[in-house]
Amino acid sequence: MARINVLDKDTFNKIAAGEVVERPSSVVKELVENSIDAGSKEIHVEIQGGGEELIRVLDKGEGIEPDDMLKAFMPHATSKIMTADDLFRIRTMGFRGEALSSISSVSKVLMRSRTEGSDGREVYIEGGDLKYEKYSPMDRGTLIEVRDLFYNVPARKKFLKTRSKEAGTIGEILSKIAIAYPEISFSLVSDGKTLLKTYGTGDQKDVIRQVYTKKIQENTFPFHEEFDSLRISGFVGNEEISRGNRSQQSIFVNRRLVQSRTITVAAENAFRAFATVSRFPFLILNIDILPEIIDVNIHPQKAEIKFEDDRHIFKVVFDTIHKTMAEGLKRTFDVEPE
Ligand code: ADP
Ligand code: MG
Repeated sequence: MARINVLDKDTFNKIAAGEVVERPSSVVKELVENSIDAGSKEIHVEIQGGGEELIRVLDKGEGIEPDDMLKAFMPHATSKIMTADDLFRIRTMGFRGEALSSISSVSKVLMRSRTEGSDGREVYIEGGDLKYEKYSPMDRGTLIEVRDLFYNVPARKKFLKTRSKEAGTIGEILSKIAIAYPEISFSLVSDGKTLLKTYGTGDQKDVIRQVYTKKIQENTFPFHEEFDSLRISGFVGNEEISRGNRSQQSIFVNRRLVQSRTITVAAENAFRAFATVSRFPFLILNIDILPEIIDVNIHPQKAEIKFEDDRHIFKVVFDTIHKTMAEGLKRTFDVEPE
Protein backbone atom coordinates (compact mmCIF):
# COMPACT_ATOMS: atom_id res chain seq x y z
CA MET A 1 0.00 0.00 0.00
CA ALA A 2 1.33 3.48 -0.85
CA ARG A 3 1.86 5.86 2.06
CA ILE A 4 -0.65 8.61 2.72
CA ASN A 5 0.36 12.05 1.59
CA VAL A 6 -1.33 15.32 2.48
CA LEU A 7 -1.77 17.32 -0.70
CA ASP A 8 -0.06 20.67 -0.97
CA LYS A 9 -2.18 23.83 -1.18
CA ASP A 10 -1.72 24.27 -4.92
CA THR A 11 -2.80 20.73 -5.80
CA PHE A 12 -5.68 20.85 -3.36
CA ASN A 13 -6.93 24.15 -4.80
CA LYS A 14 -6.84 22.83 -8.35
CA ILE A 15 -8.89 19.80 -7.34
CA ALA A 16 -11.38 21.96 -5.46
CA ALA A 17 -11.55 24.34 -8.42
CA GLY A 18 -12.65 21.47 -10.64
CA GLU A 19 -15.85 21.19 -8.65
CA VAL A 20 -16.81 24.84 -8.81
CA VAL A 21 -15.35 25.88 -12.14
CA GLU A 22 -16.37 23.46 -14.82
CA ARG A 23 -16.45 25.84 -17.77
CA PRO A 24 -16.50 29.57 -18.58
CA SER A 25 -20.22 29.84 -17.79
CA SER A 26 -19.57 28.62 -14.23
CA VAL A 27 -17.12 31.50 -13.79
CA VAL A 28 -19.66 34.00 -15.11
CA LYS A 29 -22.31 32.61 -12.78
CA GLU A 30 -20.09 32.87 -9.69
CA LEU A 31 -18.90 36.39 -10.51
CA VAL A 32 -22.36 37.68 -11.31
CA GLU A 33 -23.71 36.14 -8.09
CA ASN A 34 -21.04 38.05 -6.19
CA SER A 35 -22.14 41.28 -7.88
CA ILE A 36 -25.75 40.55 -6.92
CA ASP A 37 -24.72 39.86 -3.32
CA ALA A 38 -22.86 43.18 -3.35
CA GLY A 39 -26.19 44.89 -4.01
CA SER A 40 -25.40 46.13 -7.50
CA LYS A 41 -28.36 47.28 -9.61
CA GLU A 42 -26.24 47.22 -12.74
CA ILE A 43 -24.06 44.33 -13.90
CA HIS A 44 -22.05 44.34 -17.12
CA VAL A 45 -20.46 41.19 -18.48
CA GLU A 46 -18.05 41.08 -21.37
CA ILE A 47 -16.48 37.95 -22.79
CA GLN A 48 -13.97 37.15 -25.48
CA GLY A 49 -13.39 33.78 -27.11
CA GLY A 50 -16.39 32.19 -25.41
CA GLY A 51 -14.99 33.29 -22.05
CA GLU A 52 -11.80 31.27 -22.46
CA GLU A 53 -9.76 34.34 -23.34
CA LEU A 54 -11.51 36.87 -21.15
CA ILE A 55 -14.44 37.23 -18.78
CA ARG A 56 -14.94 40.73 -17.40
CA VAL A 57 -17.62 41.60 -14.88
CA LEU A 58 -18.22 45.16 -13.75
CA ASP A 59 -20.65 46.09 -10.99
CA LYS A 60 -21.68 49.14 -8.97
CA GLY A 61 -22.04 47.20 -5.74
CA GLU A 62 -20.66 47.97 -2.32
CA GLY A 63 -17.10 46.94 -3.21
CA ILE A 64 -14.44 45.25 -1.09
CA GLU A 65 -12.43 46.93 1.65
CA PRO A 66 -8.80 47.36 0.51
CA ASP A 67 -7.58 45.20 3.44
CA ASP A 68 -9.96 42.41 2.41
CA MET A 69 -8.99 42.22 -1.26
CA LEU A 70 -6.47 39.43 -0.85
CA LYS A 71 -8.50 37.62 1.75
CA ALA A 72 -11.33 37.31 -0.79
CA PHE A 73 -9.09 34.98 -2.82
CA MET A 74 -8.30 32.63 0.05
CA PRO A 75 -10.12 29.28 0.21
CA HIS A 76 -13.13 29.36 2.54
CA ALA A 77 -13.03 33.14 2.80
CA THR A 78 -16.49 34.69 2.85
CA SER A 79 -18.23 37.72 4.28
CA LYS A 80 -21.61 35.97 4.02
CA ILE A 81 -21.67 33.42 6.81
CA MET A 82 -19.95 33.04 10.16
CA THR A 83 -20.99 29.59 11.33
CA ALA A 84 -22.61 26.43 9.97
CA ASP A 85 -25.91 27.48 11.57
CA ASP A 86 -26.01 30.38 9.14
CA LEU A 87 -26.39 27.87 6.29
CA PHE A 88 -30.04 27.66 7.24
CA ARG A 89 -30.50 31.41 7.12
CA ILE A 90 -28.95 32.02 3.72
CA ARG A 91 -30.20 35.14 1.97
CA THR A 92 -27.21 35.53 -0.34
CA MET A 93 -26.28 33.68 -3.52
CA GLY A 94 -22.81 32.81 -2.24
CA PHE A 95 -21.85 31.35 1.13
CA ARG A 96 -18.93 28.96 0.71
CA GLY A 97 -16.13 31.36 -0.06
CA GLU A 98 -14.76 29.10 -2.75
CA ALA A 99 -15.41 30.84 -6.04
CA LEU A 100 -12.65 33.43 -6.10
CA SER A 101 -10.02 31.07 -4.70
CA SER A 102 -11.00 28.39 -7.23
CA ILE A 103 -11.19 30.72 -10.22
CA SER A 104 -7.90 32.43 -9.39
CA SER A 105 -6.07 29.10 -9.11
CA VAL A 106 -6.91 28.17 -12.72
CA SER A 107 -6.65 31.53 -14.49
CA LYS A 108 -5.11 35.01 -14.42
CA VAL A 109 -7.28 37.38 -12.42
CA LEU A 110 -7.25 41.12 -12.09
CA MET A 111 -9.57 42.64 -9.53
CA ARG A 112 -10.17 46.28 -8.84
CA SER A 113 -12.60 47.42 -6.19
CA ARG A 114 -13.58 50.43 -4.14
CA THR A 115 -15.99 50.85 -1.25
CA GLU A 116 -17.66 54.09 -0.23
CA GLY A 117 -15.10 56.04 1.73
CA SER A 118 -12.01 54.00 0.88
CA ASP A 119 -9.33 54.24 -1.77
CA GLY A 120 -9.57 51.81 -4.64
CA ARG A 121 -7.28 48.80 -4.73
CA GLU A 122 -6.13 46.52 -7.53
CA VAL A 123 -4.69 43.02 -7.28
CA TYR A 124 -3.37 40.69 -9.94
CA ILE A 125 -3.16 36.96 -9.31
CA GLU A 126 -1.86 34.29 -11.66
CA GLY A 127 -2.55 30.62 -11.00
CA GLY A 128 -3.19 31.43 -7.36
CA ASP A 129 0.01 33.50 -6.90
CA LEU A 130 -0.18 37.20 -6.13
CA LYS A 131 1.84 39.12 -8.76
CA TYR A 132 1.14 42.67 -7.61
CA GLU A 133 -1.14 44.80 -5.52
CA LYS A 134 -1.55 48.55 -5.87
CA TYR A 135 -3.67 51.62 -5.26
CA SER A 136 -6.12 52.15 -8.09
CA PRO A 137 -8.78 54.84 -8.26
CA MET A 138 -12.22 53.93 -9.57
CA ASP A 139 -15.92 54.52 -8.92
CA ARG A 140 -17.55 52.55 -6.14
CA GLY A 141 -17.97 48.94 -7.21
CA THR A 142 -15.94 46.03 -8.43
CA LEU A 143 -14.29 45.08 -11.70
CA ILE A 144 -12.95 41.59 -12.19
CA GLU A 145 -11.18 40.22 -15.25
CA VAL A 146 -10.51 36.52 -15.65
CA ARG A 147 -8.09 35.68 -18.46
CA ASP A 148 -6.81 32.43 -19.95
CA LEU A 149 -9.12 30.14 -18.04
CA PHE A 150 -7.54 26.71 -17.39
CA TYR A 151 -4.21 27.85 -18.86
CA ASN A 152 -2.51 25.69 -16.21
CA VAL A 153 -4.97 22.76 -16.35
CA PRO A 154 -4.72 21.54 -19.97
CA ALA A 155 -6.83 18.44 -19.24
CA ARG A 156 -9.75 20.65 -18.31
CA LYS A 157 -9.31 22.91 -21.33
CA LYS A 158 -9.66 19.93 -23.65
CA PHE A 159 -13.21 19.34 -22.44
CA LEU A 160 -14.46 22.77 -23.41
CA LYS A 161 -16.81 22.99 -26.37
CA THR A 162 -16.35 25.40 -29.26
CA ARG A 163 -16.09 29.03 -28.31
CA SER A 164 -19.43 29.91 -29.80
CA LYS A 165 -21.09 27.10 -27.81
CA GLU A 166 -19.46 28.30 -24.61
CA ALA A 167 -20.64 31.84 -25.38
CA GLY A 168 -24.14 30.49 -25.95
CA THR A 169 -24.14 28.73 -22.58
CA ILE A 170 -23.00 31.94 -20.90
CA GLY A 171 -25.89 33.75 -22.61
CA GLU A 172 -28.39 31.15 -21.37
CA ILE A 173 -27.21 31.27 -17.78
CA LEU A 174 -27.06 35.04 -17.65
CA SER A 175 -30.54 35.28 -19.19
CA LYS A 176 -31.91 33.09 -16.44
CA ILE A 177 -30.18 35.08 -13.73
CA ALA A 178 -31.64 38.24 -15.33
CA ILE A 179 -35.12 36.71 -15.11
CA ALA A 180 -34.63 35.99 -11.42
CA TYR A 181 -33.47 39.57 -10.80
CA PRO A 182 -35.73 41.85 -12.84
CA GLU A 183 -34.74 44.88 -10.74
CA ILE A 184 -31.12 44.60 -11.90
CA SER A 185 -30.05 45.67 -15.38
CA PHE A 186 -27.71 43.20 -17.06
CA SER A 187 -25.70 43.34 -20.23
CA LEU A 188 -23.65 40.73 -22.02
CA VAL A 189 -21.22 41.58 -24.81
CA SER A 190 -19.45 38.73 -26.58
CA ASP A 191 -16.56 39.58 -28.92
CA GLY A 192 -17.97 43.07 -29.27
CA LYS A 193 -21.52 41.96 -29.97
CA THR A 194 -24.36 42.58 -27.51
CA LEU A 195 -26.07 39.25 -26.72
CA LEU A 196 -28.28 40.39 -23.88
CA LYS A 197 -29.57 43.60 -22.40
CA THR A 198 -32.17 44.01 -19.68
CA TYR A 199 -33.31 47.24 -18.12
CA GLY A 200 -33.96 46.56 -14.45
CA THR A 201 -37.61 47.60 -14.53
CA GLY A 202 -38.44 45.20 -11.71
CA ASP A 203 -41.06 43.38 -13.75
CA GLN A 204 -40.29 39.78 -14.65
CA LYS A 205 -42.62 40.05 -17.61
CA ASP A 206 -40.39 42.71 -19.19
CA VAL A 207 -37.35 40.48 -18.84
CA ILE A 208 -39.15 37.56 -20.47
CA ARG A 209 -39.84 39.82 -23.40
CA GLN A 210 -36.20 40.97 -23.54
CA VAL A 211 -34.76 37.48 -23.17
CA TYR A 212 -37.26 35.53 -25.24
CA THR A 213 -39.77 36.93 -27.73
CA LYS A 214 -43.00 38.89 -27.82
CA LYS A 215 -44.78 35.74 -28.97
CA ILE A 216 -43.59 33.82 -25.94
CA GLN A 217 -44.57 36.63 -23.61
CA GLU A 218 -48.05 36.72 -25.12
CA ASN A 219 -48.55 32.99 -24.80
CA THR A 220 -47.82 32.68 -21.09
CA PHE A 221 -50.15 32.77 -18.12
CA PRO A 222 -48.90 34.45 -14.93
CA PHE A 223 -49.49 32.99 -11.48
CA HIS A 224 -48.96 34.11 -7.92
CA GLU A 225 -50.07 32.23 -4.81
CA GLU A 226 -49.16 32.58 -1.15
CA PHE A 227 -49.08 29.87 1.47
CA ASP A 228 -47.89 29.79 5.08
CA SER A 229 -44.24 29.07 4.53
CA LEU A 230 -43.87 29.89 0.86
CA ARG A 231 -44.85 32.01 -2.07
CA ILE A 232 -45.02 30.71 -5.61
CA SER A 233 -45.13 32.88 -8.72
CA GLY A 234 -44.14 32.87 -12.36
CA PHE A 235 -45.34 32.14 -15.86
CA VAL A 236 -46.40 28.99 -17.63
CA GLY A 237 -46.77 28.82 -21.40
CA ASN A 238 -49.65 27.39 -23.39
CA GLU A 239 -49.24 24.47 -25.74
CA GLU A 240 -48.37 26.63 -28.71
CA ILE A 241 -44.99 27.57 -27.27
CA SER A 242 -44.19 24.18 -25.71
CA ARG A 243 -41.05 22.38 -26.86
CA GLY A 244 -39.49 18.98 -27.34
CA ASN A 245 -36.98 19.69 -24.54
CA ARG A 246 -36.72 21.58 -21.26
CA SER A 247 -34.56 24.45 -22.52
CA GLN A 248 -37.30 26.98 -21.78
CA GLN A 249 -37.73 26.08 -18.15
CA SER A 250 -36.27 27.95 -15.21
CA ILE A 251 -36.88 27.16 -11.58
CA PHE A 252 -35.75 29.61 -8.93
CA VAL A 253 -35.84 28.92 -5.24
CA ASN A 254 -35.19 32.06 -3.24
CA ARG A 255 -34.00 33.47 -6.57
CA ARG A 256 -31.39 30.78 -7.02
CA LEU A 257 -31.55 28.88 -10.31
CA VAL A 258 -31.92 25.24 -9.35
CA GLN A 259 -32.79 21.88 -10.77
CA SER A 260 -35.56 20.15 -8.92
CA ARG A 261 -37.16 16.94 -10.07
CA THR A 262 -40.04 17.43 -7.69
CA ILE A 263 -40.94 20.82 -9.12
CA THR A 264 -40.35 19.86 -12.76
CA VAL A 265 -42.48 16.73 -12.57
CA ALA A 266 -45.27 18.49 -10.66
CA ALA A 267 -45.42 21.34 -13.18
CA GLU A 268 -45.25 19.08 -16.22
CA ASN A 269 -47.93 16.72 -14.92
CA ALA A 270 -50.24 19.64 -14.33
CA PHE A 271 -49.48 21.11 -17.76
CA ARG A 272 -50.06 17.82 -19.56
CA ALA A 273 -53.59 17.58 -18.25
CA PHE A 274 -54.31 20.38 -20.76
CA ALA A 275 -51.99 19.39 -23.61
CA THR A 276 -52.72 17.25 -26.62
CA VAL A 277 -49.15 16.11 -27.27
CA SER A 278 -46.44 15.17 -24.86
CA ARG A 279 -44.17 18.21 -24.90
CA PHE A 280 -42.43 20.38 -22.32
CA PRO A 281 -44.03 23.63 -21.17
CA PHE A 282 -42.42 27.03 -21.12
CA LEU A 283 -41.98 27.66 -17.43
CA ILE A 284 -40.62 30.35 -15.15
CA LEU A 285 -41.26 29.28 -11.60
CA ASN A 286 -40.21 31.25 -8.53
CA ILE A 287 -40.51 29.80 -5.08
CA ASP A 288 -39.77 32.00 -2.11
CA ILE A 289 -39.52 29.88 0.96
CA LEU A 290 -38.23 30.21 4.51
CA PRO A 291 -34.50 29.42 4.29
CA GLU A 292 -34.84 27.38 7.49
CA ILE A 293 -36.75 24.61 5.68
CA ILE A 294 -34.45 24.07 2.75
CA ASP A 295 -30.84 22.91 2.41
CA VAL A 296 -28.87 24.80 -0.22
CA ASN A 297 -25.58 23.14 0.57
CA ILE A 298 -25.89 19.79 -1.19
CA HIS A 299 -24.27 20.53 -4.55
CA PRO A 300 -20.83 22.03 -5.42
CA GLN A 301 -22.32 24.48 -7.89
CA LYS A 302 -25.37 25.05 -5.70
CA ALA A 303 -27.54 23.79 -8.58
CA GLU A 304 -29.65 21.55 -6.39
CA ILE A 305 -31.40 22.06 -3.09
CA LYS A 306 -33.29 19.90 -0.68
CA PHE A 307 -36.76 20.68 0.66
CA GLU A 308 -37.77 19.60 4.13
CA ASP A 309 -41.22 18.65 2.82
CA ASP A 310 -41.03 17.47 -0.78
CA ARG A 311 -44.63 16.33 -0.97
CA HIS A 312 -45.97 19.69 0.08
CA ILE A 313 -43.87 21.39 -2.63
CA PHE A 314 -45.14 18.93 -5.22
CA LYS A 315 -48.74 19.62 -4.29
CA VAL A 316 -48.35 23.39 -4.24
CA VAL A 317 -46.69 23.41 -7.66
CA PHE A 318 -49.13 20.95 -9.20
CA ASP A 319 -52.20 22.77 -7.88
CA THR A 320 -50.92 26.20 -8.88
CA ILE A 321 -50.01 25.23 -12.45
CA HIS A 322 -53.22 23.25 -12.88
CA LYS A 323 -55.35 26.16 -11.74
CA THR A 324 -53.38 28.66 -13.85
CA MET A 325 -53.72 26.56 -17.00
CA ALA A 326 -57.42 25.98 -16.43
CA GLU A 327 -58.18 29.65 -15.86
CA GLY A 328 -55.81 30.86 -18.56
CA LEU A 329 -57.25 28.62 -21.22
CA LYS A 330 -60.78 29.49 -20.20
CA ARG A 331 -60.02 33.21 -20.55
CA THR A 332 -58.37 32.67 -23.94
CA PHE A 333 -61.43 30.72 -25.02
CA ASP A 334 -63.83 33.37 -23.70
CA VAL A 335 -62.26 36.27 -25.58
CA GLU A 336 -61.81 34.41 -28.85
CA PRO A 337 -65.26 33.47 -30.11
CA GLU A 338 -65.34 30.65 -32.67
P1 ADP B 1 -18.77 33.73 -1.44
O1 ADP B 1 -19.54 34.46 -2.50
O2 ADP B 1 -19.25 32.33 -1.23
O3 ADP B 1 -18.68 34.50 -0.16
P2 ADP B 1 -16.48 34.15 -3.18
O4 ADP B 1 -15.20 33.41 -3.30
O5 ADP B 1 -17.37 34.19 -4.36
O6 ADP B 1 -17.26 33.54 -1.94
O7 ADP B 1 -16.16 35.64 -2.73
C1 ADP B 1 -15.40 35.85 -1.53
C2 ADP B 1 -15.75 37.20 -0.90
O8 ADP B 1 -15.27 38.27 -1.74
C3 ADP B 1 -17.23 37.46 -0.76
O9 ADP B 1 -17.76 36.90 0.43
C4 ADP B 1 -17.29 38.99 -0.76
O10 ADP B 1 -17.05 39.51 0.50
C5 ADP B 1 -16.14 39.39 -1.67
N1 ADP B 1 -16.58 39.71 -3.05
C6 ADP B 1 -16.42 38.95 -4.15
N2 ADP B 1 -16.91 39.56 -5.25
C7 ADP B 1 -17.39 40.75 -4.84
C8 ADP B 1 -18.03 41.86 -5.50
N3 ADP B 1 -18.27 41.84 -6.83
N4 ADP B 1 -18.37 42.94 -4.75
C9 ADP B 1 -18.14 42.96 -3.41
N5 ADP B 1 -17.54 41.95 -2.73
C10 ADP B 1 -17.17 40.85 -3.43
MG1 MG C 1 -19.51 33.98 -4.49
